[in-house]
Parts: sequence; structure tokens; C-alpha cells
Amino acid sequence: MQVFFRAEEIVGFQKKLAASNKTSGFVPTMGALHDGHLEIVKKSIEDNDYTVVSVFVNPTQFNNAVDLEKYPREVDKDLKKLEQAGADVAFVPAVSEIYGNHVQPDDIDLGGLDELMEGAHRPGHFDGVATVIMRFFDLLKPTRAYFGEKDFQQLQIIRHVSQKHNLGTEVIGFPTQRTEHGLAMSSRNLRLSEAGLHSAVAIYTNLKWAAENYHQYEPNSLKTAMTERFAASDLDLEYVEITDLQKLKPIRAWQDTEHARVFVAAWCEGVRLIDNYGLF
Ligand code: AMP
Repeated sequence: MQVFFRAEEIVGFQKKLAASNKTSGFVPTMGALHDGHLEIVKKSIEDNDYTVVSVFVNPTQFNNAVDLEKYPREVDKDLKKLEQAGADVAFVPAVSEIYGNHVQPDDIDLGGLDELMEGAHRPGHFDGVATVIMRFFDLLKPTRAYFGEKDFQQLQIIRHVSQKHNLGTEVIGFPTQRTEHGLAMSSRNLRLSEAGLHSAVAIYTNLKWAAENYHQYEPNSLKTAMTERFAASDLDLEYVEITDLQKLKPIRAWQDTEHARVFVAAWCEGVRLIDNYGLF
């Protein structure tokens, strides 16, 4: 596996690929890699001639300085895992390689997909995400790029941005990978104690309960019922939202949409966790 630290190295690699007509898969990550990340890497390896994985904790997507500082970083371990998984290139840029001296997000049209949930609760978050992904796409011009459904709003926003700007990259969603008890794998889980890991399973239990019982409720009363279930758990619920799949707008009645999804953010031991689940 080649490890690139410089943007110009990625550009050089891209030029060689383009000349040889090979396909490339791109998996952007913020590192502290877990099996969920590595399953995406394997999928990209299956689909493409070359797979490039970035490990970059993107400062412009953090609206909270403490969260950015506490974000787990373990690049050496990550590189070993990527090598073992069979990735061809790891891209590990310094902040200045991506942003120069101007560590600010660009003004990108997110199609209103950022109005709720993570967009509402982490102002500016998706501007930062879209900015870094567009820069990466611009450097690598990947054939395909892979994003987890665990960050479903992010996946839909990147799909929108990629289409709107004709970036020529196919954006592919990958199902949420879970621990045996159902907790969505996340780098942030590294910050939880054993007890916290146990409590956090309530997120999955409540999402699954919603998927099994939604038809007995209207969307709003389902949100209320879920809020009550979280109140009875060890977690602090930040939001629960039920939206359609495409526009990510709240649903008033089930018949208003073909596909509905429920989204949750909740705090466990001072760690903010998100998850989501398809209802129908
Ligand atoms: P992150 O390092 O958290 O920014 O995640 C990098 C990519 O992996 C994103 O596209 C995430 O949605 C995806 N991802 C993270 N955790 C999971 C998971 N448990 N299942 C599937 N995809 C995931």
C-alpha cells in the first residue's frame, strides 16, 4: 500500500490512473478505523481496480472545538488495518494540504438537505463535509465514492452535491455495520466505557422498536413514544426525527411518502452518538 501525505501525490496518482483507463474507488474517513470502515473498503476493492482511503479529521466540519480535540486519532494503527484490508493507497494529508492557510468551508448549495437533524444541531457541519469531499473529489476524480448509511444525511447531501456539480463520481451508500448487540459501529464508541457501550444499545433497540411498531402511530406520536423510551434509558436524547428518504423533510402522515426513515442523536457518557433506521 502506498501512503501519500501530499495533495500533489494524489494528483500524480490520478493522472496515471486516467492514462491507464483504470477505475478508482474512494473511501473518505476520519480514521480510528473500525470494522464498519473496513467493510466499506472491501466493497470498494471488489468494485474497482484501485481503492484509495483518506484518513483526515476535517476541522471545518466540527462546530465544537472540544469535540474536534477529543476526536480519536490513531493513524499508525489505521495504516496497518488498511494495508491488511488490501487498500492500494492511504491518503493522510495535513490540514494545510487541503486548506492552505484558509481553514474555512466554501459556500456550497446543499439543496436544503441540511435543514434538519445534524444540519440543525451542528450548524455549519455539512458545509465543512461538502467542502472537504469536493476537494478530495477534485484531487482524485474517483470513479466511485463510498459513504455509510450510518451518516444517512451526509450520504444524501454528497449525492446531491456530486450530481449538482457534475463531479462525475458515482456516490454509493453502504449499509450500517453494527456490533452483535446492534450498536452502530463508530470511532466515537472508543470513548465509551463497558457500561456506556451497554447503555448505548438502547439507540438501536428504540430504532428497531420504531420500525416494528410505527403503523400503530402517526409520525408525531411515534416521535413522542420514542422520546419517552429514551427518557427511560441511560441516554440523553438530542433529537428524534422522522423524514422521507429523498428530501429529508419531516413526515406528517405515513401516506405522504413512499419511504420513511427515523433518525436519532443521543448522548452517552458525554459522547454524542447518531444512528438511523428505515421504517418502510
Ligand atoms: P467517519 O470516519 O466516521 O467519518 O466515517 C467514514 C465513512 O464510514 C462514512 O461514510 C461513514 O458513514 C462510514 N461509516 C462509519 N461508521 C459506519 C458504520 N457503522 N457502518 C457503515 N458505515 C459507517
